[in-house]
Amino acid sequence: MIELLKSTDKPLFSFEILPPLKGKSIQSIYDGIDPLMEFKPAFVNVTYHREEFIYKKREKGFLEKIAIKKRPGTVGICAAIMNKYDIEAIPHLICGGFNKEETENALIDLNFLGINNVLALRGDPIKTESHFVPELGGNEYAVDLVKQIVELNNGNYMDENIENATPTNFSIGVAGYPEKHFESPNFSNDIKRLKEKIDAGADYVVTQLFYDNKKFFDFVDACRLAGIDVPIIPGIKPIESMRHITFLPKFFNIDLPSELTDELDKCKSDVAVKQVGAEWAIQQSKELIERGSPCLHFYTMGKSTTVKQIAQSIF
Ligand code: FAD
Repeated sequence: MIELLKSTDKPLFSFEILPPLKGKSIQSIYDGIDPLMEFKPAFVNVTYHREEFIYKKREKGFLEKIAIKKRPGTVGICAAIMNKYDIEAIPHLICGGFNKEETENALIDLNFLGINNVLALRGDPIKTESHFVPELGGNEYAVDLVKQIVELNNGNYMDENIENATPTNFSIGVAGYPEKHFESPNFSNDIKRLKEKIDAGADYVVTQLFYDNKKFFDFVDACRLAGIDVPIIPGIKPIESMRHITFLPKFFNIDLPSELTDELDKCKSDVAVKQVGAEWAIQQSKELIERGSPCLHFYTMGKSTTVKQIAQSIF
């Protein structure tokens, strides 16, 4: 992946999808990807979703705490995408919920499947926790996960008794936050943490979604000043409904510029919001390309219609 990002002479198109809710078929994934294939995506990212805890009523009023995964299948979907479309699929790998042994085994599975790209993340706290709690014997921060992957790339498995081990060959992406990660004490500290991930061996950065290109350009400048010299891929999410106007800032800890909200305030329906959202994302994309972004990465959140509309104007 990193070779592709460094060698491309025109901006690449990529997008992120979510595994379907448990019980749905993989066809729902293909239905989302098919309309975007004409734009020759360089890669498709597949998110990872941790378990959630629910309480089930049992006899005599007892409650049983049960862990459920609503969107399993990240690795299987990646393998299926690579098989069906012959394009790179990048699974998101998180620290939360895995000890290091389980992480190593997951990486071995990926390696055997021919999946050589991962986006290494910490993961958010689960809903029932106020802050992120690493698994016992697991990685605490994304930087620790990056270090573990690099160890495998160097042929160092956790079991020191393994001799002549085959090294893996993972290209590692990490997350960056143009508007700073919500837990970080300040912007410069967050950049310092990002630099640690790069120094540990990450190859490129994919950013959190943002709507103000100036914030992205300032972020890139700050990264370059801090010595982060890897490709930085902007993440773009078109606003598609009235609900998004309040949901996206709250969920992703980002701001919408007033120029955008002024336009959104005039909308009387989701259809109108969608049009404003698509036009805004097209303007963002054009400017990002003008300023040399190597790739535009779109968050589909399971819906490809608007991303297709944007791609038609850009690629
Ligand atoms: P980290 O880089 O570990 O940073 C987390 C926080 O800790 C930051 O505030 C950072 O400044 C701070 N920090 C880092 N290192 C240290 C240290 N050594 N000491 C003290 N503080 C430190 N979540 C999912 O669950 N599944 C997904 O599929 C998923 N995909 C994502 C894709 C992208 C592109 C992005 C941007 C986010 C994604 N997330 C996903 C959300 C992500 O997991 C959360 O934002 C999470 O809270 C932070 O992950 P991170 O990898 O950035 O963490």
